[in-house]
Amino acid sequence: MKEIFELIDKECDRQNEGIELIASENYASKMVRKACGSILTNKYAEGYPNRRYYGGCKYVDLVEELAIKKACELFGSKYANVQPHSGSQANAAAYRALMPAGGKILSLVLNDGGHLTHGSPVSFSSHLYDFVHYPLSSDGKLDYEVILEIAKKEKPNAILAGYSAYPYIIDFKKFKEICDEVGCYFIVDMAHIAGLVASGKHPNPVPYADIVTSTTHKTLRGPRGGLILTNSDELIKKINSAIFPYYQGGPLEHIIAGKAICFDEALKDDFKEYAGKIIENTKACRDVLAKLGALTSDTENHLFLLNTLDSYGITGKDAQNKLEEIDITANKNMIPGDKLSPKETSGLRIGFAAITTRGCTKQDAEKIALIIHEYLANKIDAVTAKKQVKEMTSSWQKIEEL
Ligand SMILES: *Cc1c(COP(=O)(O)O)cnc(C)c1O
Repeated sequence: MKEIFELIDKECDRQNEGIELIASENYASKMVRKACGSILTNKYAEGYPNRRYYGGCKYVDLVEELAIKKACELFGSKYANVQPHSGSQANAAAYRALMPAGGKILSLVLNDGGHLTHGSPVSFSSHLYDFVHYPLSSDGKLDYEVILEIAKKEKPNAILAGYSAYPYIIDFKKFKEICDEVGCYFIVDMAHIAGLVASGKHPNPVPYADIVTSTTHKTLRGPRGGLILTNSDELIKKINSAIFPYYQGGPLEHIIAGKAICFDEALKDDFKEYAGKIIENTKACRDVLAKLGALTSDTENHLFLLNTLDSYGITGKDAQNKLEEIDITANKNMIPGDKLSPKETSGLRIGFAAITTRGCTKQDAEKIALIIHEYLANKIDAVTAKKQVKEMTSSWQKIEEL
């Protein structure tokens, strides 16, 4: 089917020519993509290594065992389940492993940076579990005293930390103390920050949480997929049966092979360097925007929130569309205390995990801030801005060569 390959080529050009600032995206390496496109996709392997429902699993057993071993080594965890097809499935399985349907989970207010699977009305999560929420304080940060107060009142079965649009370090130790004080489980969803955790640039939740869930395709830079970690002998059994047979069928062994490679890549010194550069670039871009007078959150990780409504008089949705005209991709996002709907929003979420992979430097990050600012403030036209974008992206590595 020729059309599909033509579309893949066009998407490849789009990825090469644009400045990708979507905080949840990244570019997987050639080796990761090779494993994911391999003949392992042909194999059925329902079950777990050495406990499969099908024959012929001797090699995929070794693939999955290697992925598990590398995941545990990378995050210092006793057990791992590498089968979740996505972060959402990983969360579903984590909830099921910890409580029956109807159980109560305390998570961040969704508009303050939570994920759909943290209790949104349009997600399974709010239908199966009773979600209650803690807010961010007015400075956009977690307030652990408020969380403790709410936890004492609500008496949840579990507290959930880990977010989609939170630009600061999360204090997992404090969360764990709150969980101990109210006697509940602690779940961490590190989907966004897994790569920073892997490289020691963000505290590791594994020593504190009962269950840690993640994606493998965001800062961790692996294939699109999910991951679950735990140190508990009892919980790993429940997690495994929640993934298969409860939520999923046959595992994607080709993707699991890609995960093994990504964990191995993340164990190397140059990944540590990469993670450090993401944080440096994010801060550099944010600082220039702030210096130019834009209203933005601060940042301690791979992303920050830009208030486009109060900085440039346009909604996040319009800012997203406007930047797309000049091949800069970012997504609209609620900012703490947002008065607009999630469809409009007052801001953008801007992240540097993807383009740092391609070789974006600190100078580039500062220049990107200038382009965004001048274009959103109507100080430069689209032709000029697009030319600057093109110049920068053509100096970076091509995504198919990474
Ligand atoms: C991205 C994300 C997920 C879900 O990942 P999918 O693979 O898209 O299902 C879960 N939790 C958080 C916090 C995320 O940011």
